[in-house]
Amino acid sequence: MSAENSIAARIAAVRDQMRDACERANRSTESVTLVAVSKTHPAEAVVEAFKCGLRHFGENRVEEASQKIPRVRELSGTEAERITWHMIGHVQSRKAEEVVGIFDTIHSLDTIKLAERYSRFAVEAGKNARVLLEVNVSGEESKSGFEAAGWQHDTDLRNQLWDAVRKISALPHLRLEGLMTMAPIVEEMEQTRPVFAALRQLRDALAADFPQWEWQSLSMGMTDDFPIAIEEGATLIRVGRAIFGDRAYT
Ligand SMILES: *Cc1c(COP(=O)(O)O)cnc(C)c1O
Repeated sequence: MSAENSIAARIAAVRDQMRDACERANRSTESVTLVAVSKTHPAEAVVEAFKCGLRHFGENRVEEASQKIPRVRELSGTEAERITWHMIGHVQSRKAEEVVGIFDTIHSLDTIKLAERYSRFAVEAGKNARVLLEVNVSGEESKSGFEAAGWQHDTDLRNQLWDAVRKISALPHLRLEGLMTMAPIVEEMEQTRPVFAALRQLRDALAADFPQWEWQSLSMGMTDDFPIAIEEGATLIRVGRAIFGDRAYT
């Protein structure tokens, strides 16, 4: 099987699993967007996936993306303008301007400082920056994002989080579209369910208190756990290995 065939075959398999999960959850297949995480893979792999119908791609490093995105354009011509690029990784503040310039949606907004910088550069560029707040609902120490483990019971934590959302909401040219999280690595995919459910509940609580935003996006679920994330309400799943194969590095 050629590399091209295998990307096509893998995408078909992912789509099957997405359809099954939507069926189990009584959701329409259109309610979930597949974001193909192309980090570490070349522009050619993106183009191949694009030819299979994928229109959303995720990258986690600014340096890598700033070379890959123009290269994809070279290879696909004006067609590639239909691609939506998602920043899914932690961003250093000195890279904020570049991120606003090359990405359409930022899933990984994890500090107020970064929000202020995105806002400033979006104002300067005369565009809106679409952002999702990354939150750590699992409490795992290795995870970035606004701390949110136990927000239902921990009043201080809840106040902190609500304060952050209030501050971010006041910044010009930022569009807050929802929440993103990463589940911990577990043995059984089923063990991720409480984490995804907690993200959805947090979204619902924020939506009640900040009705100026739609809160339409829940970015959760990766190769090892996306079917559970879909059952728990994911609208964006970020899938790398299941589409492009194993990464040589991370
Ligand atoms: C790499 C990465 C993914 C994709 O992970 P896979 O296990 O390859 O599907 C999703 N989200 C984030 C934030 C990532 O860094």
